[in-house]
Amino acid sequence: MQNIPALWRDPETYLARIAPDHPVLFFAPSVLHATAQRFLEGFGGLVTYAVKANTHPAVLSNLVAAGVSGFDVASPAEMAAVRAASDTAAMHYNNPVRSAVEVAAGIAHAVDSWSVDCHSELDKLRDVPKSCEIAVRFALPVAGAAYDFGSKFGASPDEAVDLLQRVAREGWTPALSFHPGTQCEDAAAWVEYIHAARDLVERSGVSVGRLNVGGGFAAHRTGGAPDLEAVFAAIEAAATRAFGDDAPHLICEPGRAMVSEAFTLSAGIKGMRPDGGTVFLNDGIYGGLVDIRDMGLPERVHVVAADGTWRAADPAPRVVFGPTCDSLDRLPDGLPLPNDSAIGDFVLFPGLGAYSLAMTTAFNGYGVSEVITVLALKHAQA
Ligand SMILES: *Cc1c(COP(=O)(O)O)cnc(C)c1O
Repeated sequence: MQNIPALWRDPETYLARIAPDHPVLFFAPSVLHATAQRFLEGFGGLVTYAVKANTHPAVLSNLVAAGVSGFDVASPAEMAAVRAASDTAAMHYNNPVRSAVEVAAGIAHAVDSWSVDCHSELDKLRDVPKSCEIAVRFALPVAGAAYDFGSKFGASPDEAVDLLQRVAREGWTPALSFHPGTQCEDAAAWVEYIHAARDLVERSGVSVGRLNVGGGFAAHRTGGAPDLEAVFAAIEAAATRAFGDDAPHLICEPGRAMVSEAFTLSAGIKGMRPDGGTVFLNDGIYGGLVDIRDMGLPERVHVVAADGTWRAADPAPRVVFGPTCDSLDRLPDGLPLPNDSAIGDFVLFPGLGAYSLAMTTAFNGYGVSEVITVLALKHAQA
């Protein structure tokens, strides 16, 4: 029989009772369900989840339970993970560069939609059933994301017109897709892409049934919780303005914004230099904190003492190192921790569900591997 793990009330209870000597990710399925509901009710189209943000089986099965029926996958391993969670979920294979073995795996997994961004990649898809959709992924030099995706994937508008015509000529269902990049704080990038999509349809003479507007929806990092509904409304308005009555069905593929708030990471304070300004945690940039290296310090951080209470003294900026013997294993400077923080305490980082567990390594024998399920993450609102 399947073992159902215990449900803890909150991270503080677990930390006080168990005093783990390793980093822990606390997962609140209730929060994931609420976020999924926000997307399903607020976004005017099909919501798919970008699996790479967090592939934990409990994430995938809870999203299926919440009503998410499509998944953006990039590799055979991600296809297998989705199939383990659902026999029927739609899979969109949106890594546009594939080996022959990967193409065969996508066909075997009955992928519904494939993206493509150049002729040599479309050549590889000759055995993909004609009942499938092939979405031409295009890229524009558009700002707005925390870092740039357009330099890696995406056809230029001229190439996209050509590819769209070839997809239609060879008998697949043509579509368009783009991905504006991660952590887009406002809707401007989507609006620009949607109008460009309209131009591609016009220039190619190929109409598309669906337009995939990618992921990139912002999670709460700094400046408060993002207004997802405002972004949804701007995307829908842009599609209506650009395409009028025959607007294609929209697809989105949130990763970060879907899963971030459902997890809080706890890292123990294992050492402090006598001046208190330098802190050593048992997790770092080779583990669950790698996204903080790339995205900058988050605005929310809390310290829990060994008895489960919060440290409440005024905060002071620290230099924070991870547990490995590598001096690069250091967070961006200035993480503010309360002045009464002490060795044996736990630092809680809310909003770390995306690009944490999925990117953790076992470098030097460290890394986050334990996920504990909790009823609530009340500290995340504070
Ligand atoms: C990574 C990725 C996503 C998810 O991006 P987030 O910023 O996590 O929302 C969506 N679509 C594609 C094609 C991606 O590569």
